[in-house]
Amino acid sequence: MPLRETAPKLPLEQYERNFADIAPPLARQQALVEAARCLYCFDAPCTQACPTQIDVPAFIKKIFTGNLRGSARVILEANILGQSCGRVCPTEVLCEGACVMHEKGEQAIAIGRLQRYAVDYVLDNNIRLFRAGAPNGKRLACIGSGPASLACAAELAKWGYAVTIFDRNDLPGGLNTYGIAAYKTRAADSLREVELVRQLGVEFRQKTAVGRDISFAELEKQFDAIFIGVGLGETWALRMPGEDFHGVYGAMEFIEQTKAKPFHHAEVGRRVACIGAGNTAIDVVTAARRLGAETVYLVYRRSEREMPAFKYEHELARKDGVTFLWQTQPVRILGQNGAVTGLECVRTHLGAPDARGRRTPVPVPGSEFTLDVDMVVSAVGQQPVTEFLRAVPGIELRKDGTVVVNERHQTGHAKYFAGGDCANGGKEVVDAVAEGMAAARGLDAWLCSPRAAPRAQ
Ligand SMILES: Cc1cc2nc3c(=O)[nH]c(=O)nc-3n(C[C@H](O)[C@H](O)[C@H](O)COP(=O)(O)OP(=O)(O)OC[C@H]3O[C@@H](n4cnc5c(N)ncnc54)[C@H](O)[C@@H]3O)c2cc1C
Ligand code: SF4
Repeated sequence: MPLRETAPKLPLEQYERNFADIAPPLARQQALVEAARCLYCFDAPCTQACPTQIDVPAFIKKIFTGNLRGSARVILEANILGQSCGRVCPTEVLCEGACVMHEKGEQAIAIGRLQRYAVDYVLDNNIRLFRAGAPNGKRLACIGSGPASLACAAELAKWGYAVTIFDRNDLPGGLNTYGIAAYKTRAADSLREVELVRQLGVEFRQKTAVGRDISFAELEKQFDAIFIGVGLGETWALRMPGEDFHGVYGAMEFIEQTKAKPFHHAEVGRRVACIGAGNTAIDVVTAARRLGAETVYLVYRRSEREMPAFKYEHELARKDGVTFLWQTQPVRILGQNGAVTGLECVRTHLGAPDARGRRTPVPVPGSEFTLDVDMVVSAVGQQPVTEFLRAVPGIELRKDGTVVVNERHQTGHAKYFAGGDCANGGKEVVDAVAEGMAAARGLDAWLCSPRAAPRAQ
């Protein structure tokens, strides 16, 4: 069934321009000038602020001295997904947010872009920095091929483990391939990075859903340990009338269109309303505008002050011409002949703070109004994959459906470890990498395997 009205199709080059790299790669001279600004602080706050503790001054110094291979080694030893992190990390609140340049009233060092500059060099030149360790006879299965599993797999492969990754998707990479805004990273960038892990001898079994195509009992029989890195699931349902009309999308389903197929094949309404105000909502509204939607509303029941999205993400959507409707609560989706025609909303005032200190929105009687839209996208958060996790024998879940792990990232069932979004409830790529690596160390310690030192090339 078609939408009531779709966004006008754009020339193909226009889509490419709209989704062009938001932080384009640095040219050699730019990188050198930027690296020269670094003060190489002794107990570098940028390194402390990085969840993977990359030695930022060390890699920047190596860029300055022209040793790009050495620079990339510093980065990738600490974080095998250094390329995607250089592109997608919210650096403003991590490494660059901690940069001492702020104290001098100067702009922070462009750490993310320098990181990308060094790692792109080794990827562009097919330089192999790491090899698999001598086999130690131990076998690890990873469920999911997102950042958490990739980091865990790479670390253990370097120590001699035979690692197999099972993923239900056609392509590996998790949300780096399917979810993160295309103007930050494309699926092809993510797949190129996955090759770094494959080169360590890690086997990928795509289109294989654990629990459906292979049982937990089978994994337990074949492998010494299992890492769960399944991320989160679908977007929560809106639970309001009209949700079945054509043109109602979940954020993940909508964004995936911009990653998994050519831009001009994406379905987008002429007028779009997105419900929610987190970083994912920003990805939805900016994608809708860049796909050609003429009017895009971001509908949030609280005020701008309570908006959970990062400030710079909010600014991006503002520059893209998105209309923000604060203190506006959606009530029901309207439709005709099965397709969305509008979103009925009511204004709110903010009452007493809830348990998390956020003021509760209270509908203002008589303030109802209707937005004339062809598409409604729900960006109210991703559900945990509770059904899948409950089927894993012996693991404990928190109230919010995330997996309980100890300091080794081990679950209640000793053979299962977990990390990334399914354990932390949904953070950033760099957190998933840090947790995947921590799980690798925990798992290695638990199996007490004699560790084979990674062989440098
Ligand atoms: C829309 C969106 C935008 C984001 N933007 C950013 C950003 O700009 N910067 C940033 O740092 N972070 C961003 N994030 C967060 C980041 O993508 C996640 O924190 C990160 O991908 C988590 O990694 P993960 O490995 O835990 O899970 P995922 O990346 O979700 O990977 C999980 C994998 O498990 C697989 N899987 C699930 N169930 C099974 C099963 N039963 N059998 C086999 N495989 C299975 C899935 O197919 C998937 O490949 C964004 C998230 C979203 C949703
Ligand atoms: S991984 Fe991310 S947070 Fe860490 S130094 Fe690199 S860009 Fe900064």
